[in-house]
Amino acid sequence: MDILVYALYIVAFAMFILGLSGLTAPRSAVRGNKIAAAGMAVAFVATLIHIRETGSWLIIIIALIVGVVIGIPPARRVKMTAVPQLVALFNGVGGGTVALIAWGEFIDSDGFTGLHAASGPVLPLVIASLFAAIIGSLSFWGSIVAFLKLQQILPGHPLSVGRLQQPLNAILFLGSVVAAVIVGIGSVGTGADPVWFGAILVVAGVLGVTTVLPIGGADMPVVISLLNALTGLSAAAAGLALNNIAMIVAGMIVGASGTILTNLMAKAMNRSILSIVAGGFGGAKGAAAASSGDQIAKSTSAADAAIKLAYANQVIIVPGYGLAVAQAQHAVKDMAKVLEARGIEVKFAIHPVAGRMPGHMNVLLAEADVSYDAMKEMDDINGEFSRTDVTIVIGANDVTNPAARSDPNSPIFGMPVLNVTESRSVIVLKRSMSSGFAGIENPLFFGENTTMLFGDAKKSVAQVTEELKAL
Ligand code: NDP
Repeated sequence: MDILVYALYIVAFAMFILGLSGLTAPRSAVRGNKIAAAGMAVAFVATLIHIRETGSWLIIIIALIVGVVIGIPPARRVKMTAVPQLVALFNGVGGGTVALIAWGEFIDSDGFTGLHAASGPVLPLVIASLFAAIIGSLSFWGSIVAFLKLQQILPGHPLSVGRLQQPLNAILFLGSVVAAVIVGIGSVGTGADPVWFGAILVVAGVLGVTTVLPIGGADMPVVISLLNALTGLSAAAAGLALNNIAMIVAGMIVGASGTILTNLMAKAMNRSILSIVAGGFGGAKGAAAASSGDQIAKSTSAADAAIKLAYANQVIIVPGYGLAVAQAQHAVKDMAKVLEARGIEVKFAIHPVAGRMPGHMNVLLAEADVSYDAMKEMDDINGEFSRTDVTIVIGANDVTNPAARSDPNSPIFGMPVLNVTESRSVIVLKRSMSSGFAGIENPLFFGENTTMLFGDAKKSVAQVTEELKAL
């Protein structure tokens, strides 16, 4: 490889790392994203130079144009609430690509036998290609199922074959490994039948489907992050097989950062990654009743809510998925301004999995110019609720569910939640008594100090703001 290609790759890697460090803070995130994207363009040019004698630029340029034409319109048009589905789909395409690269290597080298003619250790290359095939196919099909679930084309609740699920997955995993071993052994002889390589892709693909189907909607963000990490690792393996440093480094960066994100998200839900992959939790169907046992939720009006808010010293706003659906971020900012003008301290409590993607609430509120200083992370704000006069919950549900702290029988017991119930008064803005993403009842709605303001979040917030102005 010539020196120019090496130099360009090093520039690209530096840009990936710089971009990633930009993503650690909301203020620098957009810049970080642009730097990393530019880094990818540099790596792409370096690859074109690298293959100038052996590869066909024409096919690559055509593929690039097809990718751009298919990829850019949905990325530009997608609603903020549908970004997780898009991420799942794009991630799946990455996994599928890696599986196809492994297939291409297998065909190109006559069942990997051609590799043995090359100098240097061969076994690692064969193992890397087989790893890329298994994980790439698993990631592709798993991501497709995750997309279908989040898009509600498939039901969000767990779909499993009960106690047989884990043995079935174990058999599929072993099946894909056995097929890979047969292909590996074949590579030192005359080459395995391509049917065996096809078997790896099919069995690993079925494993991807049967692994993600039993996982409930509430765990889906963690699963997407895990699949993303796996795609990165499989891309790094494919890079080893192709002897492409850019793929190895980019794949490892995605694999490592995806693994860290998966861990952080699992921690935020107080779930182990193993129990998430084992499935069966969350996304249950059905709506909570307007009363739970002898408890009845109390409804309130915009005027009464405004009076409560007007006499508070400190107000905490808890945004959730419903705020994103209603696109109420600008209305909320207006309300916060009116409250602040009355000398009331306003803070925003951000739960790490509020909404439908990591950082969802930060992005929405930043779009409405809410200052980053006003957005408090869960650990920083949880101690504040007991000192707060009014907490206003806007389209949030699961992230405020006190059962996670108090009811050992609750499916979300142990998940860290915002300690909303500790504040003197709680006003919940939502359209009905229906449950959130996890599909479970929220005792907060029946709390002594809770009142419900029913309606679309944007309209309700605007009404409260009007009432506040009139006071
Ligand atoms: P939830 O999904 O628990 O609840 C959202 C609430 O918003 C619903 O109860 C709904 O009630 C209400 N709502 C919907 N539309 C409107 C509207 N137009 N106006 C007012 N209210 C509305 O959201 P949370 O943010 O509390 O919790 C996030 C959940 O999503 C967690 O379970 C999390 O695990 C999961 N998740 C998180 C992801 C992430 O990465 N952040 C990704 C995928 C899932 P009603 O219908 O009565 O209005």
